[in-house]
Amino acid sequence: MIISLEGIQFLKNSGVAIQPLGKDIIRNENRCVHCGACLAVCASGALAIDRVARMVIFNNEKCIACELCIKACPPRALAVNF
Ligand code: SF4
Ligand code: SF4
Repeated sequence: MIISLEGIQFLKNSGVAIQPLGKDIIRNENRCVHCGACLAVCASGALAIDRVARMVIFNNEKCIACELCIKACPPRALAVNF
């Protein structure tokens, strides 16, 4: 999920504390076989299919670190990086 600077300022003005994510999701490109199993669980759009290249792309900037893709990935290409 990406929140605009205006959105962040609105939340701060509303008294909501904003903190950066304390963890990242990383993908081991050598393990990924582009099977697409992770696509169904990724609500943020961080994992998406490139139909031209026939590859699953991972956009770390869209990732909200929900970790749902980790269990969905058969070859364990996705992991938490603390
Ligand atoms: S489930 Fe794992 S192996 Fe399959 S496309 Fe996603 S990251 Fe790659
Ligand atoms: S942790 Fe995985 S499923 Fe969750 S947003 Fe990030 S890439 Fe998508």
